[in-house]
Parts: sequence; structure tokens; C-alpha cells
Amino acid sequence: MSVASRDVAGRRRPPGLDVAVVGGGMVGAATALALARAGFATALLEARAPQPWCAQDEVDLRVVGLAPSSIELLDELGIWASVRDARAGPYAHMHVWDAASGAAIDFAAASMGQQVLGYIVENKLLQWRLWQALEAAGVRCRCPADVRGFEAREDRIQLELADGETLAASVLVAADGAGSPLRQLAGITTGGRDYAQRAVVAHLQTARAHESTAWQRFLPSGPLALLPLADGRSSLVWSLPEAEAQRVLALDDRAFLDEVGVASDFRLGRIVASTSRAAFPLKLQLASRYQGERLVLLGDAAHAVHPLAGQGVNLGLRDVVELRDTLLGARVAGCDLGAAHVLRRYARRRRSADTLDALGFDALARIYAWQSPALVAARGLGMGLLGRLAPLKRRIAEHAAGR
Ligand SMILES: Cc1cc2nc3c(=O)[nH]c(=O)nc-3n(C[C@H](O)[C@H](O)[C@H](O)COP(=O)(O)OP(=O)(O)OC[C@H]3O[C@@H](n4cnc5c(N)ncnc54)[C@H](O)[C@@H]3O)c2cc1C
Repeated sequence: MSVASRDVAGRRRPPGLDVAVVGGGMVGAATALALARAGFATALLEARAPQPWCAQDEVDLRVVGLAPSSIELLDELGIWASVRDARAGPYAHMHVWDAASGAAIDFAAASMGQQVLGYIVENKLLQWRLWQALEAAGVRCRCPADVRGFEAREDRIQLELADGETLAASVLVAADGAGSPLRQLAGITTGGRDYAQRAVVAHLQTARAHESTAWQRFLPSGPLALLPLADGRSSLVWSLPEAEAQRVLALDDRAFLDEVGVASDFRLGRIVASTSRAAFPLKLQLASRYQGERLVLLGDAAHAVHPLAGQGVNLGLRDVVELRDTLLGARVAGCDLGAAHVLRRYARRRRSADTLDALGFDALARIYAWQSPALVAARGLGMGLLGRLAPLKRRIAEHAAGR
């Protein structure tokens, strides 16, 4: 059995790294950067090299709506200005309406004393800016890296890579996405449900301006969102049952533009042009626990949610802040960073917060799938009431903002 070394103050000093982060997507890269900036010896291991972002390239088909809490973290990490100035679409309003009942609800940044509710940003841009900052922050990056296994010991966790190398750290962070191989190796199960839906995405040129507004129409088949891009176009996220999504993907361009026009109720007028389309499967997935021996789950490895609330990566970035603060607290207290009681604090807090959000988004997806006339009428009444209850509406907007 190995014994941890101690520093001059008698505190445990980990052999090797403080933290090894596996998975360098938006959430894993932000984790590595945040921890390195907080002074932890950090390594990031990623299987696939991130794609460089270039202003001349077409806007990446995958975009996310970043909430103010995420922007605050990115600002603290010193990369927000370079993301915003490169290509980010601010939105100051959100208009949500129900196709069946006609009820609608509006959110405005001004009513919260803010200039914007958030920004629409390309995944590729955000990931690339995070990666560009890693080296200067002292993160040791291994890419491509293939983690084959790990073993928790008394004072460290030992990672084995496919090339035969080993790496030791106090804590292993699994940020390796919804399919998380590390979560599976740790024997952590997941619960949730497959929505049997796909989100069809494309960038659209519309006859009318998007007015810096995120538009979302709830249809019986699933929600359709038009998110304002920096270049004046709108990004379509159209959730459809599997077979419908396949049919929509196979339409010729003219038919596709017409169908999106009808489905969006021509809110932005005629759809004039579209990029190519892609589709992503949708599921609700929550890890049964966020903690293993010297291991924590974070980002989609811990929780995958329906995109109707546009919160997946925002929840992941809230995980990052909680983990960083937990490890900082442990360091001040002179604790082993990987001690079970330290990681439990992170795991408990984030799992309960994520569970509430994930179940809330799932409830919305179920409520908007109601088709019986009585339930549709009740839904419309509820939406109308919510629109008039300013304090409740404000609380919802603050929650979405991460406040
Ligand atoms: C259509 C759609 C719209 C969405 N819209 C929004 C939105 O508006 N707002 C929002 O907040 N969220 C949104 N989301 C959710 C968001 O995209 C995800 O939550 C986010 O991408 C998850 O990031 P991640 O870093 O946790 O995981 P991932 O992006 O999946 O990254 C995981 C990384 O781990 C790496 N990896 C995997 N296995 C290994 C291994 N063994 N070794 C090393 N590396 C490994 C992978 O290569 C990958 O780079 C949307 C999702 C969809 C599908």
C-alpha cells in the first residue's frame, strides 16, 4: 500500500496530478481551465483533437444558448470577450407559444434589469477558445488519449492509457459525454427515458429579422426553436419523432423550407434559404450517482436533458463551478482532494440541482405533448396565468439565468 507524501504544513500531497479530466468537450475543457486557474495541477485527456474555429468557416451547425451564469464563468476564465467578439448572437427576448391553444408567454431582459438573456454560440468556437487558453494556464493536454481503465488507491487514482502509459491524480473527473466510458467502467448506472425523438438542426435565412429574440413554438410533435445567430440568420432546433425527423431530413430543399415555414407559423416570414441539415437523438439521462472512488461525473456524463430549455451545457458549467469551489474548500482545509467526504459535497449538491432541472424539462416535454382538448385548454390557461404572474415569471427567468 502506498503512503501519501506530506507538504511542510503536514498536508497530504498527492503523487502526480491534483486532477485528471477525461473529455475535452466544452464542459471538460472548462473544468480543466477553471481548476488550473485555481492553482490545481491539472491534466486534460481527450480522444479526438478539437476542430480549429475560423471566422471564414460556415457557422457550426451545433450551437448552444449560453445563460448569464455560464457567461460569468467564461468571463472569469478570461475567454468570454474573445468568444463574444468572434461570433455570438445576443438575445434580449424570448417568445414561447403553444400551437394548439394559441397561449403565449414572453420574457424580456429589460424586465430583469439586464441587456440580454443570453447568447447563441457555436459549440466549436467555445471549445476552441477554451483549448487555446489551456496551455497558458498550465494544463497538461494529452490528445489523442485513450483511457483504458483506472484503479483507485488509498492516496491516488491511477489511469491506464491504451499506449501503456499510466498517470496518477488525486481526483479523476469524467467529462466524457453522455455515453461516458468512464461512468461505465466505474459501474455507475443511469436512469431516464429515450424521447424517441431527434432534433433536426439547420441555419435559416428568414424573410423577417429575428429581432434578437429566441422563438419557440410548441407543436404536438415536439418543440421548434429559432435561435438568433450573430449574422442575422436563425438556428433551427426542431424536435420530432424519429420517423418524422428522418422524413424531414430527406425532403428536398424547397419542401424543407416550406415545412419549416408552416411549422414556425411564419413567425419570421417565409424561410428563404437553409444550410445542410443534421439531427441528434434526444434522451433524458441522469447518473444514479455523480461520485465513485476518487472519481466524479460532470457535464453530459452526469446528465443529458431535452434541449427544449437550452440548458444542457449551462448545467455542465454549473457543475464546473461547484467542483472548483469544493476542491478549493478542501485545499484550504488541508484535506485530500479525492477524499470521499470532499467529493460527496460536489456530488450531492449538483445531483439534486440537476435532478430538479432535468425533471422540470421532462415535465414540460410531457405537458406540451398533451393532445386531448381538455388538457390543451388547461395548458393554455396555465400558460396565460403564468404570463400574468410577474413574480413567478421573473423567478423562472432568474432560474434559467442560473441565479
Ligand atoms: C440539438 C441540441 C441542442 C442543444 N442546445 C443547447 C443549448 O441551447 N444550450 C445548452 O446549454 N445545451 C444545449 N445542448 C446540450 C449540449 O450540447 C450538451 O450538454 C454539451 O454539448 C455537453 O458537453 P460535454 O462537454 O459534457 O460533452 P461532449 O460534448 O459530449 O464532450 C465529451 C468529450 O469527451 C471525449 N471522450 C469521450 N470518451 C473519451 C475517452 N474515453 N477518452 C478521452 N476522451 C473521451 C469526446 O471526444 C468529447 O470531446 C443541446 C444539445 C442538442 C443535441
